[in-house]
Amino acid sequence: MSLSRRDALKVIGLSPVAATMLLSAKPTDIQASEDVSGKVLIVGGGSGAIMALSRVHRAIKNPNITIIAPNEIHLYQPGQVFVAAGEMTFDDLILHNSAYIPDDVEWIKDEVASFNPKNNSVTTRAGKEVKYDYMIVATGVINRFDKIEGLNEEDIGTNGISCVYLSDMEKGTARGAVEMKKWFDELKEKAKTKKQKVVYTQPDSPIKCGGAPQKMLYLSADYLKEAGLSADYQFYTGLKTLFHLPEVATALEKVQKQYDTITSNYSHFLQSLDVKGKKATFIHAYEKETYDEDFGETIKESISDEVVVEYDFLHVVPPMSPPLALMDSDLINGMGWLDVDKYTLQHNKYTNVFGIGDVCGIPMGKTGGSARHHGPILTDNLIAVMKGKDPKEKFDGYTVCPLKTEYGKILMAEFNYEGPKPTIPFMDIDEPRWMWWAFDLYMLKPMYKYLMLPGYF
Ligand SMILES: Cc1cc2nc3c(=O)[nH]c(=O)nc-3n(C[C@H](O)[C@H](O)[C@H](O)COP(=O)(O)OP(=O)(O)OC[C@H]3O[C@@H](n4cnc5c(N)ncnc54)[C@H](O)[C@@H]3O)c2cc1C
Repeated sequence: MSLSRRDALKVIGLSPVAATMLLSAKPTDIQASEDVSGKVLIVGGGSGAIMALSRVHRAIKNPNITIIAPNEIHLYQPGQVFVAAGEMTFDDLILHNSAYIPDDVEWIKDEVASFNPKNNSVTTRAGKEVKYDYMIVATGVINRFDKIEGLNEEDIGTNGISCVYLSDMEKGTARGAVEMKKWFDELKEKAKTKKQKVVYTQPDSPIKCGGAPQKMLYLSADYLKEAGLSADYQFYTGLKTLFHLPEVATALEKVQKQYDTITSNYSHFLQSLDVKGKKATFIHAYEKETYDEDFGETIKESISDEVVVEYDFLHVVPPMSPPLALMDSDLINGMGWLDVDKYTLQHNKYTNVFGIGDVCGIPMGKTGGSARHHGPILTDNLIAVMKGKDPKEKFDGYTVCPLKTEYGKILMAEFNYEGPKPTIPFMDIDEPRWMWWAFDLYMLKPMYKYLMLPGYF
């Protein structure tokens, strides 16, 4: 695959950063040296599936791999934020899967309709049964708009509602991001005559790129600020803080103050929407402490209040889950995610099954950055199992959240199961910097396309 002149210039221009990132990567020890046999089935056609395919294919001498993925193209999803903010176009997001799927790999362009792990097989939507010896599940997550009463996917882009997450891999659209740019402009126009009430939501359950709701909040506030305008921004989150790492949460509280019109409301769960009436109903769950004088003790009471909020504009983030076909199988754990070990990525019940990417039921890391780190661990462990050995390699929980705090600045929060884990050791993770903005906007996509997807990095 050749590097375009535009991409090459970006890489050269930022080469010191790139060099640091590349040097910090775990060198891949994959040299098609593994003389193992067995059919490997990969389910999915996004970041994780392609990264896994590239690495496993290169590791095995005579690979026998089938991939089931309905989508000819997949989207560079981190760019959806930049499309919404007007910094990238939809075309910038498109990646052709055929560029990464070698000719000797069987590609079934369909979706898995049912998983039958007891039988080592899956059945496609077209009714074809596909057997495997080993399976890598890389289906990602789906948006569950159905979990919010009164909201349909078709409502996104109407009545002041947007959602940067809305995309359709099979059709190759990123409707949410494209609509959101219009939403930014409409908000700006209306803010010229009347202060608008803008509500942002976030569920308390795991979502991919958990920082995206706040990225959109700050970029939208900055978009108005640049034009000398403001709005009444209300962030309703199901979580108890802005970020699970205290230093990052504190930095984000500071960021919110720079806009002076943002209020955060914690432990609020979006229940339903009145789309036409522009009203959102949340459940606010909290504990109330009262002192009982008769018993001389403090009593804690769990309270759930219904809170109805009117808005002019709404950025809604739905709960997310694995695709329903997977939810219906016994590959899922009690929390509704692929039941894999958080270190080895091997399925806890079916030892010939592994997971990569967002679908994995592990404590953190529904990001492309995590999927990149899953790749080499998964490959080594799969090959160990193919050799009849125990998986030894351990994923450390690495994930990355490039929080856009304003146009031109990103706070690069990198962490693992233990805590903060900056790639550049001397770099703090709670300081918004222009360098990270330039890196994210200009370098990451070429790195993703030319290094990460082919499994070199
Ligand atoms: C708005 C936004 C911003 C983001 N920002 C960042 C960021 O800044 N940094 C970062 O690291 N990450 C970011 N991410 C997250 C990142 O894009 C995902 O974590 C990554 O794409 C996960 O890869 P995946 O392979 O698990 O899932 P996906 O890339 O979503 O791929 C899933 C694939 O599975 C296929 N599939 C689904 N069901 C089936 C089935 N039944 N049968 C067969 N195939 C199926 C789909 O068609 C798709 O091809 C962002 C995501 C979004 C949406």
